[in-house]
Amino acid sequence: MRLGIHTSISGGFEKAVQHLVALGCNACQIFSRSPRGGKARGLKEDEVIRFRELCFINDIAPVAVHIPYVLNLATSDPDMHKYAAQMVREDMERADALGAIYLVLHMGSHKGNGIDKGLRQVALALNNALKKYQGNTVLLLENTSGAGTEVGYLFEHLKSVLEMLEIDKSGICFDTCHGFAAGYDLSTGEAVNETLGQFNSIIGIDKLKLIHANDAMFPLGSTKDRHADIGAGYIGATGFRAFLCHPLIKDKPLILETPAASDADWKRNIEALKVLYPVP
Ligand SMILES: [Zn+2]
Ligand SMILES: [Zn+2]
Repeated sequence: MRLGIHTSISGGFEKAVQHLVALGCNACQIFSRSPRGGKARGLKEDEVIRFRELCFINDIAPVAVHIPYVLNLATSDPDMHKYAAQMVREDMERADALGAIYLVLHMGSHKGNGIDKGLRQVALALNNALKKYQGNTVLLLENTSGAGTEVGYLFEHLKSVLEMLEIDKSGICFDTCHGFAAGYDLSTGEAVNETLGQFNSIIGIDKLKLIHANDAMFPLGSTKDRHADIGAGYIGATGFRAFLCHPLIKDKPLILETPAASDADWKRNIEALKVLYPVP
């Protein structure tokens, strides 16, 4: 079982790894910079080497970097679009330096220009970001909850962007809360089977590289991106058990993004997932 949390790097990369180890994690997700955007400080060579070393020693893999929330890849505004592509490129390089194999992307909102245009803008931004790129980062599109004019809430949206990308080093990060909020039921064994079957036939399960394991604070189809503790939301323990035990999900790395004010919150959610995880 590969299980990690989204952890803060505000105390430095070394502290971040210590935090993961203390919680018993063997996977992780970080921001490589402030999630609110702005210019990122350069990464120092010794800190990135130390980070990679510590992840290796402590068997933390995969490491995923999440792009800042503020970016909108789906925008038709030329300046915002260019900025988003630049930030993605920077984060791809930062991910490479940190030894992170995945860069998780929020696709953003079309703001009234329509889903198709929004999806084309996402692919264009990513193709621009990828120009002459020779690193190892695999781009992962994260499904959205479909709030407002967000794109990427249907499996068909994700598939269409993957098809427009000029690389094959790409895949999907599936967020259970977002999927449920977008109308993909995960609350029963039957529903999980139906949802994962759809994913498999539309996108293909081999494209699923990472799971954001979050329960949902609002009912099916709410479009609200509000995460709840594992088992305490509308997906519930039954839904999570069915999801984790499903043959299509077996061995996929799990990252928790549940609300956490303290380590006790993380520990409770880690324990909740472990209890529901199928015994090998
Ligand atoms: Zn997520
Ligand atoms: Zn979310």
